Amino acid sequence: MKIGLFGGTFDPVHIGHLVAARLAQEAMGLDRVIFIPSGVPPHKREHHISPADRRLRMVELAVADERGFQVSDWELQQPGPSYTVHTVESFSSQYPEDELYLIVGADMLYDFPNWQSPRRILQLAQLIGMTRPGFPLAECRAELQQALPEAERRVHYVEMPGLEISSTWLRERLQHRQSVRHLIPERVIRFIEENGLYDRRADS
Ligand code: ATP
Ligand code: MG
Repeated sequence: MKIGLFGGTFDPVHIGHLVAARLAQEAMGLDRVIFIPSGVPPHKREHHISPADRRLRMVELAVADERGFQVSDWELQQPGPSYTVHTVESFSSQYPEDELYLIVGADMLYDFPNWQSPRRILQLAQLIGMTRPGFPLAECRAELQQALPEAERRVHYVEMPGLEISSTWLRERLQHRQSVRHLIPERVIRFIEENGLYDRRADS
């Protein structure tokens, strides 16, 4: 089986994530995609992150009716922040017969040579780099080839319609009570509203 692993903070999950996962699945013929919400990642310690159980719940709601999509709380069960290499090692021993693919937006792929143990990751999984506006895949590929030549055979580049949508932008819209309709799955929007998730106004 071919299994896609899709990590992220998902604070909140949005259609950019769903489109990327679906088109990666289609392009590489993945049997399933497992969304893996992360603990507080090293590069996000600065800003406030929604509690793990809320982010997990949002992803569960987002993929509930999505064929072939699943959610794992593996990283959330780890004490402290988890590095992708540990996640990949764990899934690789959980699924020794299967082929693992790590799905990442181009912004993350640019940084891949600086991750912990990128070569080990490439031994255990192939990567699928997805279009993200502002991070041209071709440039990304050239840089990776320079920094990490062994990546060439293990990284696949999948162009998708550029969606200039990020959780950061959506958190701002939510805080300003602007509409996020069609940008976040409806059930997730309802959950956000019911729980006042991104509402920083004391008077509401
Ligand atoms: P934040 O603004 O908080 O960083 P984000 O929108 O970047 O949120 P993450 O949870 O950081 O979402 O991203 C999870 C994964 O999804 C990363 O690999 C990221 O590159 C990818 N991704 C997120 N948004 C998009 C998008 N619009 N198009 C393609 N890939 C995306
Ligand atoms: Mg991000």
